[in-house]
Amino acid sequence: SDQPKSGEVIFEDVCFAYRDDEPILENINIHIKPGEHIALVGPTGSGKTTVIRLLCRLYEQQQGRILLDGVDIRELPIPDLRQRLGVVLQDTFLFSGSVANNLTLNSECSRHELEQLCKDLGLAPMLEKLPNGLDTSLRERGGNLSSGERQLLAIARVALRNPSVLVMDEATAFLDPSTEATLQNDLSKLLTNRTAIVIAHRLATVEASDRILVLKRGRVVEEGSHIDL
Ligand code: ATP
Repeated sequence: SDQPKSGEVIFEDVCFAYRDDEPILENINIHIKPGEHIALVGPTGSGKTTVIRLLCRLYEQQQGRILLDGVDIRELPIPDLRQRLGVVLQDTFLFSGSVANNLTLNSECSRHELEQLCKDLGLAPMLEKLPNGLDTSLRERGGNLSSGERQLLAIARVALRNPSVLVMDEATAFLDPSTEATLQNDLSKLLTNRTAIVIAHRLATVEASDRILVLKRGRVVEEGSHIDL
């Protein structure tokens, strides 16, 4: 088949606490196959965000290992990790600079490539609303954009880098129907041929996933497809 060969993610007996006296994740064992799409769900405070923070190496687990294509992520040089993992968080980091620079982030991507990508991702209506399209300068943290628009830019930014694994915390904010539709459509494009771990807040995302992991008090308590659960 045309299943991708890279993008395998393994959590092996991972334990984590932000503070010594308060375990947050306990013996997390997850085996994600290349190209598999995982929806991470669970009550607030159950540890979903912590799971993705560990994978992105924002924190280091106290026990266990996290492997990306067979390599312990602690042994991967950070640029290598950044290249393999594409991250879309709820609060997308945008800096004061042009939309174009916010998307390319020093990568060697031509203007033509960038324009084509924006077209493919249906960003034209959004860019047309901005005074100078891709050259519009963004206020710090993207203050002049809605949260949905910021997440669309984050998706475009990740799509340009073509990582083998996508890590995402889906937007919870109410989005206008057209932004919502574009986002859903772009997300499904971004997921093609990539492993994905998405903290899913939308039923459509849960339904489209290959497997759902339910976290509760720092443990995986259920696992299965949308139909199983
Ligand atoms: P939500 O759905 O509300 O985003 P979550 O499932 O993503 O929740 P986490 O954000 O991973 O849960 O939080 C798990 C636990 O860790 C919570 O009890 C939270 O208070 C605690 N926690 C999260 N971040 C920190 C931090 N930086 N320092 C200390 N404790 C933290």
